[in-house]
Amino acid sequence: LFAAHAVCHLNEVKAALADKNRFTIVQCAPAVRVAIAEEFGAELGTLTPGKLSAALHALGFDRVYDTNFPADVTIMEEGTELVKRVTEGGVLPMFTSCCPAWVKFLEDNYPELKDHLSSAKSPQQIGGAIFKTYGAQLEGREGKDIYSVSVMPCTCKEFESERPEMKDSGFRDVDAAITTRDLAWLIKDMGIDWEALDEQEFDQPLGLYTGAGTIFGVTGGVMEAAIRTGYELVTGQPIPDLEVTAVRGTEGFRTSVIKVGDLDLKVGVVTGLKNVVPVLEAVKNGTLDLHFIEVMTCPEGCVSGGGQPKLLMDTDREEAYAARRAATFAHDRELAYRKSHENPAIKKIYEEFLEEPNSHIAHHLLHTTYCNK
Ligand code: SF4
Repeated sequence: LFAAHAVCHLNEVKAALADKNRFTIVQCAPAVRVAIAEEFGAELGTLTPGKLSAALHALGFDRVYDTNFPADVTIMEEGTELVKRVTEGGVLPMFTSCCPAWVKFLEDNYPELKDHLSSAKSPQQIGGAIFKTYGAQLEGREGKDIYSVSVMPCTCKEFESERPEMKDSGFRDVDAAITTRDLAWLIKDMGIDWEALDEQEFDQPLGLYTGAGTIFGVTGGVMEAAIRTGYELVTGQPIPDLEVTAVRGTEGFRTSVIKVGDLDLKVGVVTGLKNVVPVLEAVKNGTLDLHFIEVMTCPEGCVSGGGQPKLLMDTDREEAYAARRAATFAHDRELAYRKSHENPAIKKIYEEFLEEPNSHIAHHLLHTTYCNK
């Protein structure tokens, strides 16, 4: 069923690219750039943001934007929400809401805990809502004229894009979600020579991203990105150590205490859904003393998502994921900006459109509610 569905999305994308009356915008998740080259014979974990952007331009997308930009927006929204919950007395611990499979798991199995989820949409959906509103304005177009595509590391992003509530732009925010493997297939099908592509930048302004947005692709990355910005929001001081190694790692559930001014911020990171049940039970029983918990469904976060290039039978999975993880952190280190709130395009969108994090318009476009399904 998923395969048929994916073909359906791919056919729609091909039709939209062929239709000169459609204005097409594409975004790519952080995990795609550290894996797609594997489909063209490269070593595991080869980092290729420039070739990825070039391939998407060659396919004919009118704007090649990046999910790392809305990931930076997520940090502004989710980080502000967390600070409010901690300082003003909201529901704690707060769970991240970036992974739609995790969100669905909680809705189905622990609906009584849904107020613990951050109300911020995932970066994919934030991107979609922004492209059909602010992005449309930048182009002098209307949202109805934009066809919005996302390239994601898993098929659950297709499911998320089809949730009926995900149309706060006034239209379906993301029209089609395809996987990393789907994109590789499309590149081959359209006769594009990956090896011959010259590197290109993502388009501006909505393709300008930070290292914080990039590390969303690995387990602990959303937490680390949130701490980089949250620390500075709360203390007004630069964070002493940008690389928050305390939240890195691959254990299924790990906790740490981060000093944020006078506050001891107690955080947890869960990777792999099998590890989340004891955590949810402890939250239910009131025996888990944490402020903020990141949850990702896949074993090492999105770098190991089910839509990523398949690993050969004899490939050591841990080594493969470690290579993609290392490429993600290498990309973080090489970027000009590494904190979401320092991204000039983030400052601009809040000045020109979103006003401030958690504003009325930000709530309308970028936040959601959860239901018992
Ligand atoms: Fe998809 Fe896995 Fe990432 Fe969740 S953790 S968004 S299921 S790739």
